[in-house]
Amino acid sequence: MYADWAPQLTALIDACDGPFTPRTLTVLPVGLTWPPTAGVTLLGDAAHLMPPVGMGANMAMLDAAELALALAADRTDPFAAVRAYETAMFERAATAARASAAVMDIVISRDGARNTLDFFQSHDAGLPDRPGPSGGNPDAPLQERSLP
Ligand SMILES: Cc1cc2nc3c(=O)[nH]c(=O)nc-3n(C[C@H](O)[C@H](O)[C@H](O)COP(=O)(O)OP(=O)(O)OC[C@H]3O[C@@H](n4cnc5c(N)ncnc54)[C@H](O)[C@@H]3O)c2cc1C
Repeated sequence: MYADWAPQLTALIDACDGPFTPRTLTVLPVGLTWPPTAGVTLLGDAAHLMPPVGMGANMAMLDAAELALALAADRTDPFAAVRAYETAMFERAATAARASAAVMDIVISRDGARNTLDFFQSHDAGLPDRPGPSGGNPDAPLQERSLP
């Protein structure tokens, strides 16, 4: 299965202590919601499992912080606090899940390595307010990065 992979990558697999086990990626439907239910809610992957492209843990921590803030802000009506949390979370999670699915499509596309590199390079060059390998200067030449 990995015969045509770069030796730098197969070396990582060879260096594993145990057998290499490919895992399937599971996601929840984008835009999943549920009717408000007193006394229970969901957060993190349980609420919005999405492709692993760098957002899931961040979304889970934000969910936890926002749910805690909502509950602390109105101690008289926890059900209303949970509903407020869910309303904002549903929209935020759907946006992140759509973006994650789009990035995953790039990663697993036929020319995925090249397309992924293009994706990150175009984002690095286009965000002058966020420091990247080019130091945040969109006019600076990108450092040459070669694929194996
Ligand atoms: C390969 C991969 C790479 C990722 N990379 C990133 C990344 O770069 N950045 C990012 O933000 N996110 C990333 N994620 C996503 C991130 O790991 C998850 O979104 C995050 O861990 C979700 O946190 P959680 O607390 O909701 O769920 P989990 O981390 O899954 O925690 C749930 C916990 O509940 C426990 N549990 C389950 N059932 C029971 C039970 N019945 N009783 C008691 N305990 C139970 C589980 O053992 C687990 O410890 C990645 C995910 C994967 C798979």
